[in-house]
Amino acid sequence: MIKRRLSANYVYTGKVNEFFRNAIIELDENNRIIQVLPNADNRELAFTEFYNGILVPGFINVHSHLELSGLKNKMEKNTGLAGFFEQLNAKRAALITDASKNALQMAIEEMWRNGIVAVGDIVNTPDTLDVKKKFYAQLYFHNFVELIGFAASHADSVFNIGLELASKFAHFSNSSIVPHAVYSVSEALFELIFRHSSLSESILSIHHQESIHENLIIAQRAGLLAKVFNHRKYHLNDLPLSDTVSDFISHKISNQKLILVHNTFAGVCDLQGFNKQNTFLAICINSNLFIENEIPLIDQLYASGLPICLGTDSFASNDSLSILDEIKSIMYHFPEFDFSEVLSWATLNGAKALNIQNDYGTFEKGKKPGVNLIQNFDFKRKRVSNDSLVKRIA
Ligand SMILES: [Zn+2]
Repeated sequence: MIKRRLSANYVYTGKVNEFFRNAIIELDENNRIIQVLPNADNRELAFTEFYNGILVPGFINVHSHLELSGLKNKMEKNTGLAGFFEQLNAKRAALITDASKNALQMAIEEMWRNGIVAVGDIVNTPDTLDVKKKFYAQLYFHNFVELIGFAASHADSVFNIGLELASKFAHFSNSSIVPHAVYSVSEALFELIFRHSSLSESILSIHHQESIHENLIIAQRAGLLAKVFNHRKYHLNDLPLSDTVSDFISHKISNQKLILVHNTFAGVCDLQGFNKQNTFLAICINSNLFIENEIPLIDQLYASGLPICLGTDSFASNDSLSILDEIKSIMYHFPEFDFSEVLSWATLNGAKALNIQNDYGTFEKGKKPGVNLIQNFDFKRKRVSNDSLVKRIA
């Protein structure tokens, strides 16, 4: 039964180049789409709610660390990745306070207000378990249980702790076990993770080319990351050895779905070895500006043919948890991209990356993607402006 009819100056469906003037979206009582009437210009259907702006599907945030929400406004910017880890280490104590639990809830509420409907969230602890249960009906979570372990001798125990943590989240959401990055996981632990993901057909996610020092540590055990880890007496010898981190991952992956996160220093050559059908490039541009004051070469990433999706990362490296803010930054730095293209990264591609495209990502019959209104849209140039705002409509 039709519960609501929604319309606006334009309806963007989430697919590239697909937008309709004054289209109407019909929703049932569960906010599932009954139909989209694309050319509804001259019709006047009863009970239609008309909004000034554009309607877009709910945003998919493929990469965050909600656990770090307590570090909002506590981290220094532009310290580089090695400096970021040093700060994180020094400030971890701030994450086990009651204030941090509040920050966690506020972070999820902020995502919700900003029109985010699904989140790929990195999990290192059970800290987010209770609050995610609370928001279970309103936000879809895919929990990436992330493993870090330098010493090969600890690989089994680290992996088993990961399995146990994943089982806690598995009761009410999807989860998978993933490596943090090539420079923080022993080759032995990689074997366990890759075998598990291949057998369970679970989605992999890995931080990839976030710093130029990643390749240095993997090829030569040199660079700033190596310096920081050596100082802490980590076992660098058990890490993979490879010319580049990209080479190592692409050779190890079979056919599981993979999200490469950041790609700040990745070029077309780095991406050639990855399968275009199931490798996704997650861009977190505002986090890259925060940590490294660098931006990914999105034009080159796009040219690689691998689908792009978007993430906010966390309050430890971002001032907001807003996919619209990520879109604004991307369109500011790469004005050559069409808005409907970038929107598809934030909606359809993100949904595909998290395997939820049957319900999310586009305005199509039978889906329940959520409906966002973008106000202050620049209709003349057909793109978001600095003043654009997002409001959740359904
Ligand atoms: Zn991250």
